[in-house]
Amino acid sequence: MDFIPIKNKESFLLKSRFILTWDKGLLENAGIEVQNKVIARIENFKLLKKSFTGKVLDLGETLLMPCLVNVHLHLELSHLKNKIKQGLGFLPWVKEVIRLKSTLNPSETELKKAISQLISSGVGIIGDVGNNFPPTYEKLLNKNIKGVYFWEHLGFKKRRISKEVFKEEPLIYSLSAHAPHTVSSEMIKYLKEKTLKMKKPFSIHCAESEEEVEFLKKGKESTWGKFLLERGFEFSEIPVKETPVKYLEKLGILDSLTVLVHCLYLEEEDYYAIKKGGANVCLCPRSNYFIQNKVPDPRKFLKAGISVCVGTDSLASNTDLDLWKELEFLSEKFPEVPGEELLKMATLNGARALCFLNCGKISVGSKPELIAVDVEKLPKNKKTLINNLLNSEKIIRYRIYEET
Ligand SMILES: [Zn+2]
Repeated sequence: MDFIPIKNKESFLLKSRFILTWDKGLLENAGIEVQNKVIARIENFKLLKKSFTGKVLDLGETLLMPCLVNVHLHLELSHLKNKIKQGLGFLPWVKEVIRLKSTLNPSETELKKAISQLISSGVGIIGDVGNNFPPTYEKLLNKNIKGVYFWEHLGFKKRRISKEVFKEEPLIYSLSAHAPHTVSSEMIKYLKEKTLKMKKPFSIHCAESEEEVEFLKKGKESTWGKFLLERGFEFSEIPVKETPVKYLEKLGILDSLTVLVHCLYLEEEDYYAIKKGGANVCLCPRSNYFIQNKVPDPRKFLKAGISVCVGTDSLASNTDLDLWKELEFLSEKFPEVPGEELLKMATLNGARALCFLNCGKISVGSKPELIAVDVEKLPKNKKTLINNLLNSEKIIRYRIYEET
């Protein structure tokens, strides 16, 4: 892959066989004019060239598109790759993660490998969740990865954050509550309010397992409740006799700055609640399949008009961090979902969920955070190009990014 960093005050034309814009659809033989780190014009290349005398970068037989956005991962668990058996079920998987975290030390080599896999698969923006603050790996990030680091909190005890947590670069820092079955309602509200005040995204795992759903309904009598009691947790406020989504709705969490991760076990009414609140849903299909042999149905979210994005989750519940493979997996399970819709989840919707509002699209005024994917061997048919691309091997030829 060749890297094309964009510096201040630079202006040039990018030429590619196909350009995926979202608002203007898929363009053929078009070009993009970049000026001062912003997309200034998108036109037929010959037309653009007539009134432009500067540098032209010809990207050849590629599809130029927004870089991918992996909305949910946990880089700090990268050393657990290949350490956990697939299909254990949720609670045994949690027990394995706890056991391995207490016996294995995080490895910088595995972190580096994970980051380089993100880059080589065309990911430019991440939503990473971790318990360390500040994140241990930030110095390892290359300039072509941007994103949000969600500092995750867990537990039913009242805690207050005294240090300054929010910052902008290179990673934006924000907060996350682990999940409705691991964090008190007061703490979930507190963390959400703090992020809302700063207009930052907020992330929470939601409806990932049957254990979580049962816990909110039955409290101490549930499998998860018994597990928490064994570990010394107190949770006097549970059961709430609500679904995880309805519970979070009552806590005032479901606005458009929230990312609900997983949403694997939903009732009909939950879809309406998410749509009404405007929250983003991040699906991690291969992680759900890895742990529970179950896959979320994207058609239900799309039908309800919910903004869906995608994430790989961590290497403790996935074989790699290749976001294309999440799309291929969804495409294989749900061939009725158009390839464009899947790609939109991995670009436009993901960028919006993480509040990168100028990214995830190719339009006048947006940031050129782009990748150029080789389409040389694909049939040059505009109608089938995206589906053909999803179902073939992807080679990312160029990564174009803003140099910060
Ligand atoms: Zn997760």
